[in-house]
Amino acid sequence: MLDCAIIGGGPAGLTAGLYTTRGGLENVTMFEKGMPGGQITQSSEIENYPGVTGDITGMDLMMPWPAQCQKFGLIHDMAEVRRLSKEGDIFTITKSDDTTIQAHSAIICTGSSPRRAGFKGEDEFFGRGVSTCATCDGFFYKGKEVAVVGGGDTALEEALYLAKICSKVYLIHRRDTFRAAPNTVKRVKENEKIELVLNSVPQEVYGDASGVNGIKVKNNEGDIQDIGVPGVFTFVGNDVNNQTLIQEDGTFLCDVNEQGQVIVDLSMKTSLPGLFAAGDMRIEAPKQVVSAAGDGAVAALSVISYVDELLN
Ligand code: FAD
Ligand code: NAP
Repeated sequence: MLDCAIIGGGPAGLTAGLYTTRGGLENVTMFEKGMPGGQITQSSEIENYPGVTGDITGMDLMMPWPAQCQKFGLIHDMAEVRRLSKEGDIFTITKSDDTTIQAHSAIICTGSSPRRAGFKGEDEFFGRGVSTCATCDGFFYKGKEVAVVGGGDTALEEALYLAKICSKVYLIHRRDTFRAAPNTVKRVKENEKIELVLNSVPQEVYGDASGVNGIKVKNNEGDIQDIGVPGVFTFVGNDVNNQTLIQEDGTFLCDVNEQGQVIVDLSMKTSLPGLFAAGDMRIEAPKQVVSAAGDGAVAALSVISYVDELLN
């Protein structure tokens, strides 16, 4: 019986692992299906993690985190969790090989995955000019021109953010009306640095060994426009990795919002006692390493109190 099961080994899960074990819980396992570190390990450069200066990759940043946790007793089980369930006070973790483990508490931090738009070169240049995070990568294009793909709130808000840093933003959208809130659309239309490329679908991002050189888009008439930019940001929706919370009857183990994000309070408590959520998968997540790590610490401190009350 585990004191705590941590599901997901990104910045949130690893920080939860550090704080639970160092905080006195003796039997904590982190289930991570791949190498620990999370999605930031795909990034070629991280500049906004406090205290970290110099050219480092996401992989460099995350490399020491697992060893730090393991020093205090965190066990890493390299396994995919298929389902998390609860009966009475006991959680059951079902792994993808159908073996099960029980726990007094659980922290779910399986992150979210930005959707890919599906054009040629998108995967090849991901992290080398194609990005899904303006807060993370916008600064690399300071004073340069960039393209943004999408017509929802995220795409338009990020286009406005990028317009403050970049010399010009091409906003590429497949229709001529937007999903985004009317006021956001108005601000985008009024922004002189944003050029709308409407009724157009990306065909290909192209470049060379040093990164992206441009994006080709095709409009409804079949005309191809070649936009020479070193950075392409895609915001075509996000999938929350919440599948492990789905029960046999199709319901979620705890409350989630319309987008499937886990609803938590400021202690990272979910609607289900003993279950906490942290990082990109929770409501209103800023989707940054520093905030995911902060969530992980908060969730861990909440777990320590919960287990203490449950067992003593
Ligand atoms: P994640 O990092 O997504 O970790 C979740 C983990 O859970 C993953 O390792 C996954 O393998 C695991 N997992 C999922 N499902 C299961 C399962 N069923 N069983 C077991 N394991 C599972 N943020 C910044 O602050 N600065 C940046 O410069 C920056 N740049 C970025 C660049 C890129 C290209 C990307 C993609 C993201 C970037 N981010 C950046 C965002 C940052 O990576 C995320 O906000 C952060 O990683 C979220 O941490 P997390 O722990 O919540 O989730
Ligand atoms: P979204 O609303 O689903 O918008 C995705 C956009 O990407 C749509 O415009 C869609 O085009 C386009 N798209 C999808 N697949 C594409 C593809 N393969 N190629 C090209 N374009 C593609 O996603 P989101 O903007 O991330 O927002 C998600 C949710 O969060 C929404 O409910 C949104 O309102 C909310 N949100 C709110 C705020 C806020 O309130 N301030 C901020 C951000 C997000 P179509 O329009 O043609 O389908």
